[in-house]
Amino acid sequence: MSSRTTEPTLENLLSRVHKRTSRAQRNYIKKAYYLAEDAHKFQERLSGEPYIIHPTAVAIEVAELELDYEAICAALMHDVLEDTETTFAFLAEEFGDTIARLVDGVTKISQLKTGSVETKQATNIRKMILATAEDARVILIKLADKLHNMRTLQHHPTVEKRQRIAKEVLDIYAPLAGRLGIYRIKWELEDMALYNIDHEAYQKIKQTIAEKKGDRNKRIQAIVKILQQKMKESRIKALVEGRAKHFYSIYNKLHEQNKSIDEIYDLSGVRILVDSIQDCYGAMGIVHTLWNPVPGRFKDYISVPKSNGYQSLHTTVVGNDGRFIEIQIRTRQMNLVAEFGIAAHWAYKEKKKNSQELTEQFELLQNIANLRESGQDATEFMEELKGSLTTDEIFVFTPQGEIIAMPTGSTILDFAFRIHTELGLKCAGAKIEDRMVSIRTPLKSGDQVQIITNASVKPSSEWLKFLATSHARAKLRSWFRKNDLETVADKDKSKGSVKEPGNQEDAEKKLTLVSKKITKRKDHTDETPLVEWQGETAMEYHLAKCCDPLPGDAIRGFITTGKGLSVHKADCPSLQNLSESEETRNRIIELNWSGLYRSYPVHINIQGLDRPQIYLEIVQTLASLGANIIEAKAQTTTRGIIDDFFTIEVDSISHLDDIINSLRNVDGVTSVKRFLHHKKESG
Ligand code: MN
Repeated sequence: MSSRTTEPTLENLLSRVHKRTSRAQRNYIKKAYYLAEDAHKFQERLSGEPYIIHPTAVAIEVAELELDYEAICAALMHDVLEDTETTFAFLAEEFGDTIARLVDGVTKISQLKTGSVETKQATNIRKMILATAEDARVILIKLADKLHNMRTLQHHPTVEKRQRIAKEVLDIYAPLAGRLGIYRIKWELEDMALYNIDHEAYQKIKQTIAEKKGDRNKRIQAIVKILQQKMKESRIKALVEGRAKHFYSIYNKLHEQNKSIDEIYDLSGVRILVDSIQDCYGAMGIVHTLWNPVPGRFKDYISVPKSNGYQSLHTTVVGNDGRFIEIQIRTRQMNLVAEFGIAAHWAYKEKKKNSQELTEQFELLQNIANLRESGQDATEFMEELKGSLTTDEIFVFTPQGEIIAMPTGSTILDFAFRIHTELGLKCAGAKIEDRMVSIRTPLKSGDQVQIITNASVKPSSEWLKFLATSHARAKLRSWFRKNDLETVADKDKSKGSVKEPGNQEDAEKKLTLVSKKITKRKDHTDETPLVEWQGETAMEYHLAKCCDPLPGDAIRGFITTGKGLSVHKADCPSLQNLSESEETRNRIIELNWSGLYRSYPVHINIQGLDRPQIYLEIVQTLASLGANIIEAKAQTTTRGIIDDFFTIEVDSISHLDDIINSLRNVDGVTSVKRFLHHKKESG
């Protein structure tokens, strides 16, 4: 069954799928193979073999899972997006959207920084993988990938590296295989991980098993013989077979139950495969009349299947020699599901044209989907599985690799508040991978988020409009309650004093006073910083990972081939290297940050009827909307009429619209207009 022994060649892959694919589908598989071979042509595996060996082996494993040709094509190309110049658009054009998305999905899982996380975070990672994968085949391809990585792990030069990879597999991928019901892969992953993590224990178990093999076989054979005889007498068509425990389950039992290896290994396992559910219960009756069941060890996963679709009867009985025998009874279809789990869905899809098998396969499908209604398919099953695992959560990483679960819809700012209140209050934006993003940016599962703070950031009530978590909103409101600006306003209101309408001097004094309370926020923003080249805003650029330039640093750009402009610190050593060759030197350009941030000064004129606190309210309105006041001029033209001029900074036209609308709602304000202060300013 295992493709471990199959030579990873295109010929072997094609012959493996020949029967169940059309010529056109096989042509796609060939095309995918040649594309991958070419894309990886300069890469070698650690073993020194050509890289194409790896994706081919993964594709063969995917074929063993009986997945369709789309999954096989994607398996062949699963590393091309990450490792080579090949783009998503190219794959979509050549192979269609489905295959391109499968490759993209596998790439996304690869890019999750799962290796560095602690064991206690493993559950979250597994949830996250299930949540991010749009198609179950993505996870199955990833599992096949891990399987081949584990089989070739010996080529990694250091023990530490091998152990780290093995631990990741044990924490994340083996349980994931179990969750999807693919025990075949789960067990192999676990055994190979154990081999690398606790080599001594592995060898000891292996040795004990080898020593006792003869004895054990004799005992199992005796039990099998009795069972075969009795089944025949009862006219139940059954296949009875001895069942080897995998090493890792023995290892786990050793640790959990504190038993000796002999005691555990003596637990013989037998599996009975029959044709119908009725026969399952019939066989169970026979077993229980032959030997006494151990109380509490009977489990009926047929009437109550496991959530991954697994169905079987389990019982433990006391054998004639007084030792325990573990017995599993199930139909052949159930056994297929136990080995292939959700993957069995595609086996069904491939075979459904063959009407002879239809009834049988239909039963199989129902098993997988674990369901009362026959209409459901594996996609819905996947959705259900996700639903039960991810109650509207997304999972993001801190720069240290810690995983934080956040409600769906959370933004950068929510995340900042989640980490620490101070971080939220001073949050200016964040870096995800090498992109700068604004505080309003919604988070996606798998994002690694580095919050960027700025001492001059001042919390704004505008934030309440996009914060998604009640935690962050509560923290922000409590800051407002403590904030002196709010307090001043409240006090003034509570006094309810009616002042004479102020003269111009008064008004100006008041205004200056209040504006001073609002920190000058010239360098504050909710927007991504921009870079300028010769006075023009650069459109396609990314911040170089090698030197991590931040707004304010002196910067220079390098025009890459195909990946746009990369922005480096002016003194970045890798830029230095590039300037040494004439060919690359010409592609280095001088850049500036476009202002520090993207904000525009605009001039507005406010007119209205003077009344107590009107200036305070105007200024507060501006502050609450995050409009930095650069200049203010208040005057009272006639007694009781105000005519004020402000220069404020806004980040967009819609921001300005919000501001103007809010100002118009201030009691006493009759008109708010934008005006052009300087002729050269554009509208
Ligand atoms: Mn790979």
